[in-house]
Amino acid sequence: MFLSPEKAIAIENALGPDIMMSFDECPPFFESYDYVKKSVARTSRWAERGLEAHKNPDYQALFGIVQGAGFQDLREQSAKDLVSMDFPGYSIGGLSVGESKDEMNRVLDFTTPLLPENKPRYLMGVGSADALIDGALRGIDMFDCVLPTRIARNGTVMTSHGRLVVKNAKYARDFSPLDDNCNCYACRNFTRAYIRHLIHTDEAFGMRLTTYHNLYFLLHLMQQVREAIANDALLDFKESFFEEYGYNTANAKNF
Ligand SMILES: [Zn+2]
Repeated sequence: MFLSPEKAIAIENALGPDIMMSFDECPPFFESYDYVKKSVARTSRWAERGLEAHKNPDYQALFGIVQGAGFQDLREQSAKDLVSMDFPGYSIGGLSVGESKDEMNRVLDFTTPLLPENKPRYLMGVGSADALIDGALRGIDMFDCVLPTRIARNGTVMTSHGRLVVKNAKYARDFSPLDDNCNCYACRNFTRAYIRHLIHTDEAFGMRLTTYHNLYFLLHLMQQVREAIANDALLDFKESFFEEYGYNTANAKNF
């Protein structure tokens, strides 16, 4: 299928989401400087064409997507181009694509301040607890990711003590909840042993419970992050969260 910026926006207009994304190019993080420079210029041209083609700006918010891989001057150029087009919100794309967490935070450190404070700043493709907290600390307002639901379908849950692979044999007779600090429907009503049994017998209810739990866990985490921001205590929250979270250090790497 051939997609142009106009066609991509027409599809988004027809689908009717409240928030839409510009049609952009997301180059690999370690692509060459020259390539990324051309790519950023292309993404800016496409953003302008998409904005022009957008039919419902009154009730569908179209976000521009800042690209530029790990190059500070290209991120600056991209942000400058898009901010001059006055989008109602801005996404940061091209991160969480295989670079290290330190690399991602380095790029966020210089990219987020380039975007207006009075508009939502959205970090695309991030959904692990540590990256959510690190992003919020750097001024990110919104995130999205398949991670919580994808790992849930594979029998892995996020807990206040780190990652837990509930399908593992060691939980066969574990009659405690997925997370003893969680108040979700799955944790209030079912045991690890039962959920493990459901997953091993290919009973879809097992995946529904782990998915429900992971989404609840992340929504609860972000609620705590918002409260900590309001109390000017996000660094303290980060420290105490990870003290608990790092408990399961063997699995903390991806969280
Ligand atoms: Zn739960």
